[in-house]
Amino acid sequence: DSVFAHVVRGPEDPILGVTVAYNKDHSPHKLNLGVGAYRTEEGKPLVLNVVRKAEQNLVNDMSRVKEYLPIVGLADFNKLSARLILGADSPAIQENRVTTVQCLSGTGSLRVGGEFLARHYHERTIYIPQPTWGNHTKVFTLAGLSVKTYRYYDPATRGLNFQGLLEDLGSAPAGAVVLLHACAHNPTGVDPTLEQWEQIRQLMRSRALLPFFDSAYQGFASGSLDADAQSVRRFAADGGELLLAQSYAKNMGLYGERVGALSIVLKTAEVASKVESQLKLVIRPMYSNPPIHGASIVATILKDRDLFNEWTIELKAMADRIISMRHQLFDSLRAKGTPGDWSHIIKQIGMFTFTGLNPEQVAFMTKEYHIYMTSDGRISMAGLSSRTVPHLTEAIHAAVT
Ligand code: PLP
Repeated sequence: DSVFAHVVRGPEDPILGVTVAYNKDHSPHKLNLGVGAYRTEEGKPLVLNVVRKAEQNLVNDMSRVKEYLPIVGLADFNKLSARLILGADSPAIQENRVTTVQCLSGTGSLRVGGEFLARHYHERTIYIPQPTWGNHTKVFTLAGLSVKTYRYYDPATRGLNFQGLLEDLGSAPAGAVVLLHACAHNPTGVDPTLEQWEQIRQLMRSRALLPFFDSAYQGFASGSLDADAQSVRRFAADGGELLLAQSYAKNMGLYGERVGALSIVLKTAEVASKVESQLKLVIRPMYSNPPIHGASIVATILKDRDLFNEWTIELKAMADRIISMRHQLFDSLRAKGTPGDWSHIIKQIGMFTFTGLNPEQVAFMTKEYHIYMTSDGRISMAGLSSRTVPHLTEAIHAAVT
């Protein structure tokens, strides 16, 4: 008998499990709206042209070797990543108050940040929005933090519960860590306005709450890299400290390359360099050092003016297609006379629409229409196309009538 015979089967991941179920379905009409990855109008994964070009450059450069990177990753990548999110004129960068380490995409950046906080920060509680990306709770709990939630989404308005958010952060213990989605909140698609961000910033700074930004969608939400970084930049501009996890999965389409960065903005260069020395002690026994290929692609693109401009154009095209899908779905439900106010579809931001459909309605749409999504009613707009909007409209209509 196996010494592991007692092992019980674990549950499927709630998000990745949707794709598992989809793959088992043989219907020609099946539609996967669970996956958090961009699809073209033809329903295909997309490798950006600019990424192909950067990879060609890398392959043709015979001076490149496959040696280990340093524990903190590729130096150019780290410098350029901090600049991308904090802005080229960031005082924190000019004053060397930022430490950046290359990590395994957004998830790995969150985990390394969480482990660092658990070892070196006096307040072990992190507040995450209710609801949030399902992995946040697990990442931070396993990092050694105690996870609590703050009110975020109001099902009645399908918008932000701003009052609840202010109350919950206002009564959090001084110093607590607060996880903030930099833009395109997942799963709700609901972001604070700039005025609301300003109030959140003032409240958090007055209570010494420590911001931990999760930036998985810079440029992917609005099509503008700068617009989508405004929340982070406002917090950095006040001179206070913050943590920041960046992912290039969505905005460069580098999902499987696992390329991201953790930056910590500090008060002084002296503290920044000590913090970096401790981040190395977190990383070394975890995975030693990060992989080289994805970070080299990103650095190649961010370093070169022409490639960078090409990237912004391709990025905006992805964002625009998603925004256009919102309008097509909204118009289609209106034209069909589907009961309900569906304006949240065009108001929400980013890859996902939080439809308001309940788990029974979702199960009905999967069973009868072969449409796959998470049971909370979240649909990926990136998985939709002009061709599939009518099928989804039919299904939603049938589910709510
Ligand atoms: N954070 C949020 C809010 C996300 O939606 C995602 C991906 O779906 C991630 C982090 C991390 O993704 P990755 O580890 O692929 O960069």
